[in-house]
Amino acid sequence: MGLYDSAKGQIVDTAQRLTQKGYLMATGGNLSVRISGKNAFAITPSNYDYLKMIPDDICVLDFGLNPLEGSRKPSVETSMHAAIYQARPDVNAVVHTHQVYASTLALLNVSIPALFDEQALFLGRSVQLIPYAPSGTGLLKNTIARHVRDHNNAYIMKNHGALCFGHDVERAEHNVEILEKCALAYLLALCTNRKVTRIPLPVREIAFSKLRKDQRKFEEANLNINFE
Ligand SMILES: [Zn+2]
Repeated sequence: MGLYDSAKGQIVDTAQRLTQKGYLMATGGNLSVRISGKNAFAITPSNYDYLKMIPDDICVLDFGLNPLEGSRKPSVETSMHAAIYQARPDVNAVVHTHQVYASTLALLNVSIPALFDEQALFLGRSVQLIPYAPSGTGLLKNTIARHVRDHNNAYIMKNHGALCFGHDVERAEHNVEILEKCALAYLLALCTNRKVTRIPLPVREIAFSKLRKDQRKFEEANLNINFE
């Protein structure tokens, strides 16, 4: 077994499940996993069919974006993923999708307030919008790195798609599903033109403090990584 085999296998399995469930479409989106305790992460290749993907197609890089393993070209959003791992030591998996309902809110410039208990517990206080920047640019990378420091685990990227994090890849995958449920319910509620209610503020804050407590546990393992 190579050093990176388990991360590569996790990425392929998760990408294929997310494709079968309709969260990833064609070659859109990308996902990555941090190599635990190391200055490295594994990520999906650029422009390659998820359903054909095998572990050998996955790229491994250090946080300076130097390739460590894999012969394919890494995702165009690789620098965005690296910036997230550096800004958020609690995050060990990042999933970027163009999932439809969250993307609809991305067009309307609407963030999602705390609507459900499980949302606050897993996604954070609210699902915030990250301002638009073109794919694959340094501007997008810097904008994302600035916004994710508020410790939420899901964001909407304006006129683009969604971004979900987890302390492991299963959690990131579940967060994609929770986000899409919230986005759809919120869109339907907004269509009625009636007042949309939120969970009580103290409930939101208790849930978020639980999430932060979990995040701090996972932060410790990654705080001493040397990103040079
Ligand atoms: Zn994208």
